[in-house]
Amino acid sequence: MSETLSRTNLSREHSVKRVFHPMAHPNDMDAMPPRVISRGEGVYVFDDAGHKTVDAGAGLWNVNLGYSNHAIKEAIASQLEELPYYSAFKGSTNERLIELSHTLAEWLEPENIKRFFFTSGGSDSVETALRLARQFWKLQGQGDRIKFLSLKRGYHGTHFGGASVNGNSTFRRSYEPLLPGCFHVAVPFDYRNVFGVSDAERLTDLCLAALEDEIQFQGGDTIAAFIAEPVLGAGGVIVPPPNYWPRLKALLDRYGILLIADEVITGFGRTGSWFGCRGWGVQPDLMCLAKALTCGYFPLGAVAIGERVERAFKADNSAMGTISHGYTYSGHPVGCAAALACLRETAALDVVTTARREGDYLLAAFRGMADRFETIGNVRGKGLMMAIEVVSDRAVKTPAGKTYMAALAKATYEAGALVRVLGHTIILSPALVIKRHECDEIVAALQAAFAAAS
Ligand code: PLP
Repeated sequence: MSETLSRTNLSREHSVKRVFHPMAHPNDMDAMPPRVISRGEGVYVFDDAGHKTVDAGAGLWNVNLGYSNHAIKEAIASQLEELPYYSAFKGSTNERLIELSHTLAEWLEPENIKRFFFTSGGSDSVETALRLARQFWKLQGQGDRIKFLSLKRGYHGTHFGGASVNGNSTFRRSYEPLLPGCFHVAVPFDYRNVFGVSDAERLTDLCLAALEDEIQFQGGDTIAAFIAEPVLGAGGVIVPPPNYWPRLKALLDRYGILLIADEVITGFGRTGSWFGCRGWGVQPDLMCLAKALTCGYFPLGAVAIGERVERAFKADNSAMGTISHGYTYSGHPVGCAAALACLRETAALDVVTTARREGDYLLAAFRGMADRFETIGNVRGKGLMMAIEVVSDRAVKTPAGKTYMAALAKATYEAGALVRVLGHTIILSPALVIKRHECDEIVAALQAAFAAAS
């Protein structure tokens, strides 16, 4: 046995016996040990047996520039050399943090973003945004505004605040009771909704009527903020109708409710717009950022703070305006250096154009597959954020079973693409630097898997 192999066996064994893997039952690990991913190159990953696959999920929707971007690696190495860490708590800052906040302000000028609060990742960003929203209302003398509204099927990370606004019971049940005062409303999902409508305009009307009904029921002056993803990710890639976000914003404005755009997945080009809310033509009050900010090369997140919120904090001179919130790694200089390199590369490679072009290409290819395979119930997406919903009966949309989905995922992997399966939905979110022939490899692998399964 080679030294590498014995090391790998040891790590696999450790994973099964010593690690609580996120989003996994510890006992499932015995039956299906985790795959050891050993190496990444471009849009490909290699497992410990050397099997090469296109990573059709780009890690967890985050490795938007692929696995071998030298500019990012060099920026990290050089920052480690210069200053590996210093705190950004009151009284100190660092050069990369200053540079990053100015660069991000330029990126987010169209959203009228004025400042940033840096975090260690997406869940931190959501937690921070919720806290700032509550504090904003206290500063406004409206301390009754403590509630949050969000969408059913929305995903906002795993801190107690984020889990409380999450719209999927899977992420809630084992941890309840969560934060009181969080209420969930209908998501505009044309394939499955309680209204039984697929017409986009009508769906927006009905969802916003339900939202307004909830606002009035709760009392508009008790609601701090509404949080949503511009395109829902973990909920199954749900793309709202084009008029939903502009009309949502107008409705929230009528009641003075803050809008938090959770752009943890949609930020930096994934949907074919630089930001999801920009694609919908809406300026939110707060934006949660993470993932593609550092493309997986270093953990970092941020909350982008809009003019209305910034103004309230600046106008306050009491202790109430102190931001009594922060992380040891807020503004981490290595994370900021990684983010600066990512932003430079993201702009230089014009990934937003690739996301739009290759996203349209893949969506058309998957729709073509739906003509061939009866078990494809629905294909949807925007940019390089797509989903294939798998059913056992197309007419009544019965979700495909666990065994069928596991077989599909395994066959796709063997045929050369690594896809994520969430319930009965295949999620596709490859790197935004993907080339046409690599897209074709994903399509071919899925085609082979569906053909083998039918
Ligand atoms: N918000 C959204 C929309 C997400 O998709 C995620 C993670 O997938 C999060 C928040 C949480 O981010 P993290 O896993 O970095 O804490």
